[in-house]
Amino acid sequence: RDVAPRTPVRTTCPYCGVGCGVLVERTVGGFRVRGDPEHPANRGRLCSKGAALGETLGEEGRLLRPVIGGRAVGWDEALDAVAAGFRRVIDAHGPDAVAFYVSGQLLTEDYYVANKLMKGFIGSANIDTNSRLCMSTPVAAQTQAFGEDAVPGCYEDPELADLVVLVGSNAAWTHPVLFQRLAAAREARPEMRVVVVDPRRTATCELADLHLPLRPGTDAFLFTGLFNHLRRHDALDWAYIEAHTEGFAATLEAARESCGSIPETALRCGLPEQDVAGFFRLFAAQERTVTLFSQGVNQSASGVDKVLAILNVHLATGRIGRPGMGPFSLTGQPNAMGGREVGGLATQLAAHMGFDDPEHVMRVGRFWNAPNMASRPGLKAVDLFRAVGGGRIKALWIMGTNPMVSMPDADTLRTALGRCELVVVSDCMADTDTLRQAHVRLPAATWGEREGTVTNSERCISRQRAFTEPPGDARPDWWIICQVARRMGFGGAFAYESPAEIFREHARLSGLDNGGNRAFDISALAPLDAEGYAALAPVQWPVTQERPEGTARLFGDGRFRHPGARGRLLPVVPGLPATATDGQWPLVLNTGRTRDQWHTMTRTARTARLTTHLPEPVAEIHPDDARAAGLADGMLVRVESPRGHVLVRARVSRAQRPGSVFVPIHWNDCHAGSARVGALVAPITDPVSGQPEFKHTPVAIRPW
Ligand code: SF4
Repeated sequence: RDVAPRTPVRTTCPYCGVGCGVLVERTVGGFRVRGDPEHPANRGRLCSKGAALGETLGEEGRLLRPVIGGRAVGWDEALDAVAAGFRRVIDAHGPDAVAFYVSGQLLTEDYYVANKLMKGFIGSANIDTNSRLCMSTPVAAQTQAFGEDAVPGCYEDPELADLVVLVGSNAAWTHPVLFQRLAAAREARPEMRVVVVDPRRTATCELADLHLPLRPGTDAFLFTGLFNHLRRHDALDWAYIEAHTEGFAATLEAARESCGSIPETALRCGLPEQDVAGFFRLFAAQERTVTLFSQGVNQSASGVDKVLAILNVHLATGRIGRPGMGPFSLTGQPNAMGGREVGGLATQLAAHMGFDDPEHVMRVGRFWNAPNMASRPGLKAVDLFRAVGGGRIKALWIMGTNPMVSMPDADTLRTALGRCELVVVSDCMADTDTLRQAHVRLPAATWGEREGTVTNSERCISRQRAFTEPPGDARPDWWIICQVARRMGFGGAFAYESPAEIFREHARLSGLDNGGNRAFDISALAPLDAEGYAALAPVQWPVTQERPEGTARLFGDGRFRHPGARGRLLPVVPGLPATATDGQWPLVLNTGRTRDQWHTMTRTARTARLTTHLPEPVAEIHPDDARAAGLADGMLVRVESPRGHVLVRARVSRAQRPGSVFVPIHWNDCHAGSARVGALVAPITDPVSGQPEFKHTPVAIRPW
């Protein structure tokens, strides 16, 4: 598989949901990576992380052999042990006593077979993904409002808009190439307006005409207040509401009772009245409006309400699915959306079908010829690990993710995993906080070594292509999963020889009895042969016989995927965050990403130039709060909550809203002692989506 010099391989960046295309060429002693000018997501651009990809390759730090206990073993012994361990637990305690916890880093083909094995053959829906921590809230809200989990727009829309609103998104750092595209569009059309809604003054604010540093957790008040304002000023699209939506009256009534006026909105959100009024006026005046939102909205105990409040204003103004208009959920991971397509969440079935429709359950079961089709949702991530700790789940397989660092209440996971009879971890790296808890370690192939597809935030399916051989005995995840399935007695259904075969099956299932009822339909890709799959160019779903070239926008015709084809406005009663500060815990902890690191740093920490931007974990704090706590810039500090603590360096900054602290998510015990910020966060989740509240934890801070 090692490519010849100067033969560029076209593949996709493995980091964020922008999903940039990259070209990789072999050079003397390494690989050169550059942006793919033909990829529609980035048109040749790359951010700092993507540009450094070539420096993150190599064997150093990799898991090279399967390991049981501390002993390196061959694949046969490891796979037999995993299959026998899962079989033993299922026979003794039933299928719900086992679980998979997978990842938005997996390719769609890996995800597909993992989901098929658990839901169709083991007979449980206990497969959840780390996308639960970042995307499950928009999934739930879009399903409620549109009838399907589908992002209506494409990356061109923010470029075409006259007003771009970024809510809870530091896109300059977390979706950098999309931000670069927005900045270029703004330069070309200086009349474009940009509003940033975020408690922190982030790098994204450099593009903002207006920054609204609202009180943490009050986004739904702001958008409910906006809804009222648009009605009062006759800025709603009554014809659209009448023709294409339902639920307006109840939504308006809830909005009136919740947050009626500009002064009330300003008070709730802790913002100056004139800024709230300015935002509302802008929104009312600009038809071509895009609202980009991300983790600042999603990671909340009332995240679904926040997203619904955003969707409501777009539905009530008819600004959806047309050029330059729409609500736009920015996915965090490279394949968060591909995972949802195959049913990677415990609450979904494959191909955007659901457990709430018995016909869907039967249809998927028939298609797979499944002997043990699950008929009800499984446990969402936080509940899943709770069940591990409580002894209800006795065998757990974690694939391509590091929950010991990324989950809320992360310290309790050590105890939970310690109680589990069998913990299997597949990973490309040899040492992570989670691997240290594993009974069986399986070496997985990673970026550049594996073949498959990913789907980015604008529904664009792109190929990840291999350009080098996996080191040691590392194997692709789909192969590992299928080998275990065969050893569990499900051989015929997992006899795939290649990811292309899996993709074809996935594409066929998406078109099964679809008839246009589900937007996720890639049935036109089902006939792809090996060459066609190898050459597959980026394409946005749906990809059907009628639209073989793909589909840039959805719902522009006002037809949604609910019965009756209407979009649903849903009443929102804004609430305050689940926890409040007090004398003992006086500051609100907000967590998030930095510019040059990715997740728990297993890849990005391998290159020196990515560590210079922020070489160590910090706590950003406003000067007033620093003074009150006796802190100076650069001092080592202890940030603690009732659940744990981290040791980080104080960074005193006026960019931080008074009363709050920001700590990045990336550092872990493998890179720096006591820096897992997830250990501070309570396992409080949105009641509908199950997404944890990572943005609002009461904490105290003091000199170390
Ligand atoms: Fe990779 Fe995202 Fe950067 Fe693009 S913007 S190069 S996908 S990290």
